[in-house]
Amino acid sequence: MTFMKYLLVLLVVLVAFWVWRNNRIPRDTPPPAAPPPPSGPLPPVAMVECRHCGMHLPEGEALVGRRGHYCCEEHRRLQGD
Ligand SMILES: [Zn+2]
Repeated sequence: MTFMKYLLVLLVVLVAFWVWRNNRIPRDTPPPAAPPPPSGPLPPVAMVECRHCGMHLPEGEALVGRRGHYCCEEHRRLQGD
């Protein structure tokens, strides 16, 4: 019965190896994709002040006159610009 003993040992080793391999696999897989980085604060936008009413607005939305920025056409006209 020596052969059967070796077979049993081999079987145990194989099972142990199989269990070890199965436990190992999850650690070998790459971690789940990291969440996208937070969008964070928006890039600073240059703010300008209406020469007529003093309202602040993004430079891109302001009306540009000869003497400054305005929030709307009406205020630019009222300033005679
Ligand atoms: Zn204004």
